[in-house]
Amino acid sequence: MERLIIVSNRLPLSITRKDGNISVTPSVGGLATGMKSFYKSYESLWVGWSGINEENLSNEDKALITDKLSIENCVPIHLTEDEVDNYYYGFSNKTLWPLFHYFTQNTKYVNKYWDIYKKVNEKFAETILEIVRPGDRIWIHDYHLMLLPELVRAKSPKVLIGFFMHIPFPSYEVFRVLPWRNDILNGILGADLVGFHTYDYERHFMSCVRRLLGHESVFNLIRLQNRTVKVDNFPMGIDYQKFKKTAEEQQSRDMRSRSTFQQEIDRYFLAMPERKLILSIDRLDYSKGIARRLEAYNLFLKRNPEYLKKITLVLLAVPSREGIDQYQQMREEVDKLVGQINGKYGDINWIPIWYFYRSLPFDSLISLYSSCDMALVTPVRDGMNLVSKEYIACRTQQTGVLILSEMAGASKEMGEALIVNPHNRKEVANAIREAIEMPEEEQVKRNKVLQERLESYDVIKWAQDFMNSLIKMEEIQEKQHVKRISLRIEGKILEHYQNAEQRLFLIDYDGTLVNFVKNPADAKPDEELYAIINQLTTNPKNTVVIISGRDQESLGQWFANTKVHLIAEHGVWMRRVGKDWIVNEPLKNEWKETVRPSMQFYVDRTPGSFIEEKQYSLVWHYRKSDPDLGMMRAVELKDELRNLVQNLNLEIMDGRKVVEIKPIGINKGRAAMRFIGTTTYDFILAVGDDRTDEHMFEYLPPEARTVKVGMQNTQARYSVQGVSNVRELLNKFD
Ligand code: UDP
Repeated sequence: MERLIIVSNRLPLSITRKDGNISVTPSVGGLATGMKSFYKSYESLWVGWSGINEENLSNEDKALITDKLSIENCVPIHLTEDEVDNYYYGFSNKTLWPLFHYFTQNTKYVNKYWDIYKKVNEKFAETILEIVRPGDRIWIHDYHLMLLPELVRAKSPKVLIGFFMHIPFPSYEVFRVLPWRNDILNGILGADLVGFHTYDYERHFMSCVRRLLGHESVFNLIRLQNRTVKVDNFPMGIDYQKFKKTAEEQQSRDMRSRSTFQQEIDRYFLAMPERKLILSIDRLDYSKGIARRLEAYNLFLKRNPEYLKKITLVLLAVPSREGIDQYQQMREEVDKLVGQINGKYGDINWIPIWYFYRSLPFDSLISLYSSCDMALVTPVRDGMNLVSKEYIACRTQQTGVLILSEMAGASKEMGEALIVNPHNRKEVANAIREAIEMPEEEQVKRNKVLQERLESYDVIKWAQDFMNSLIKMEEIQEKQHVKRISLRIEGKILEHYQNAEQRLFLIDYDGTLVNFVKNPADAKPDEELYAIINQLTTNPKNTVVIISGRDQESLGQWFANTKVHLIAEHGVWMRRVGKDWIVNEPLKNEWKETVRPSMQFYVDRTPGSFIEEKQYSLVWHYRKSDPDLGMMRAVELKDELRNLVQNLNLEIMDGRKVVEIKPIGINKGRAAMRFIGTTTYDFILAVGDDRTDEHMFEYLPPEARTVKVGMQNTQARYSVQGVSNVRELLNKFD
């Protein structure tokens, strides 16, 4: 059985040490509640923080904890108080949590938080690397560990890694604010599969990757130099059967054998059969919108006096992150609002809000879900929200009304609920009234559909779906390695080279010998490159040609003191060593005056773009423009030029962030063949990264060793990852 290593900030257990005894108990939380049912069915290990400060643990304690946890297939990570303060309370909960929930005003930017966040992610990576075995799969959870996929990948490149984000991923405009934004994106991209709860979070992430890192994507696949990362949405479900069965079991008990908590609720209903209960359950967190909710409830009571004494709001606020100032302030605000509402409307026999500031045991939670006529779930931002799903699962008679915020990820799958904007108090107050008055038939109709959906896509299905997608990535990554130059292939190429008398190297420049930079003029050859070229050209059996889309001037200058032949502008110009430039193809240029105005129009409308004029072509560059806008405008420009181009006998070449217009017939393939002429080369190596290099791969004889840089579809026989690999390969030909 394959092993699965689950990694999350906390283990699904909490460990306490009292009087020298270590005890282990299940811990509360969305993820723990969700994964628990699933992880036992795999041969799995769960890695996470033990929850006790390392300073308080002796080596014997640590050994004891490790032993106790290994029985539960868990591996502890020990963190010092300083690490917990900076990584958990600091970067995770004072930087990432507020920012990703759009509370930019609460977000703290502190270098120390970031440094320790990195350090703790490294600590997790070390432990994982100690236990990981070939063939294992790793599933990393949530925003505490966003650097971890890359850290593990760096040391264990082949392992399959999934990353799931349980909170929202904010839009580019919010995410870009983060000073460490690129490190975080690169960290996540170490995974093979990245999952989010909703499509919105997925597209926000894709947009950040494109805009900040410049990686292109095809549908939901992000192409990196040597791997593909898939991004998808998997709305997390709940353990539906567990909630449903517990609710059914509780209701089947006779009154006296029910829990004390349930008996109290029963007594209340006996005394006040007409009274309706509205349920509100959350951790006390600003993202949950509890104060806004209370204001809406206040408005409801004010506007609907006929319902006074007929309705009670059960407000369960679970203590959370009490060490953080904003949480304390929020608690004060909620306490105050509850006091105000109860003081204003309540009387001896009726309290408008029952307020509990604590967490409840599972059974009591189910009793609440079963007993309340409505649930008011109105977070101002929530990655998913499981409470809304649990409420519906516990409605054994299919009655009950869920009022759900459109800002909760769950709203995307629960359209049958009353969907509200939590900031619109009037709308929420109206929804409460609508919920109270909703006929039972209507309630059942809505809940039936919701229940069917929750039952079929429960947490087990969710986890399996994620795992199946992750496993499929293995195939995708492998396919991309098929053509990769292995040591064996490299050996064959070198042997072929050694045995040849007349060797030809046709090498593209940008993206092949040097990396792309924002300003093309900056991509000059460096010392290492000159050394490689010199080594190659010293051997009299070798003919080396740099074949590029660049103009002759730059190439001519850069390679003035070398013994390489040059082909410029995709084949328009050629310069043999020691000779002058000659025009390969006699061409006319009048067409430029017709095309230029259209192109200029796109420069004016696309900030950052510009026209480069080459001797025989016009190039519209959009590398410096907004990536989405640039791509859209490129499509429009090509569309607009299509007719013009046909009439003038021109062609459009789509390069990397460029659209180039030039007379038909010029391409690197034809130019290469012209260069070869009647000479017989018994070894040809052609290397290029761009679509324009495909012409070269296509025209060359089949025995040529053609090499694509990168992973896009290609006609080349082999591929290498990137510029550094090209240089490594060329270094081997001496
Ligand atoms: N929960 C609990 N005890 C309580 C209140 C809530 O175990 O007293 C659980 C609840 O059943 C749910 C989780 O806490 O599974 C809250 O998950 P949700 O996605 O709604 O919010 P989160 O706290 O993860 O932001």
